[in-house]
Amino acid sequence: MSADQECLQCGVCCEKWGWDQYGIPADLKPWIKGRRDDILQHVSIRFRNHRRSTGAGLTLADLPEVERIYYWVSPSGSKLDYCPFYDKREDGKVYCGIHTVKPAVCIGFAPWLEVYHDYGLNCPACRDIAP
Ligand code: SF4
Ligand code: SF4
Repeated sequence: MSADQECLQCGVCCEKWGWDQYGIPADLKPWIKGRRDDILQHVSIRFRNHRRSTGAGLTLADLPEVERIYYWVSPSGSKLDYCPFYDKREDGKVYCGIHTVKPAVCIGFAPWLEVYHDYGLNCPACRDIAP
């Protein structure tokens, strides 16, 4: 099995797996430091005291109280069934609107890796791999 496939930016994996994911506090740090409320407003957070809110206005001091992080929601906190940063352009490719600061769950996702076994994705970069 080849481990060095190249993503063709078809966007299928972002369509299928780009939502309903969990985040980690390390995802939030650069967004807080960079004042990226445009991203944080799409994050749902459950705090240790069971309070829930989006990440808008979150500070580094709040992080120890964060219990769960969910992707993605609308600015009003309603769950989304798509990623708000999915950007399909005229060249036919899909771009990540937050590519340089995207969450770990997206950075780590590579469907050609043996751990996933998700050929149902029809990932074109997996076409040379036999299930
Ligand atoms: S499905 Fe495969 S080729 Fe398409 S964007 Fe995802 S990893 Fe890249
Ligand atoms: S954040 Fe970027 S990589 Fe992750 S699902 Fe959205 S568009 Fe895809």
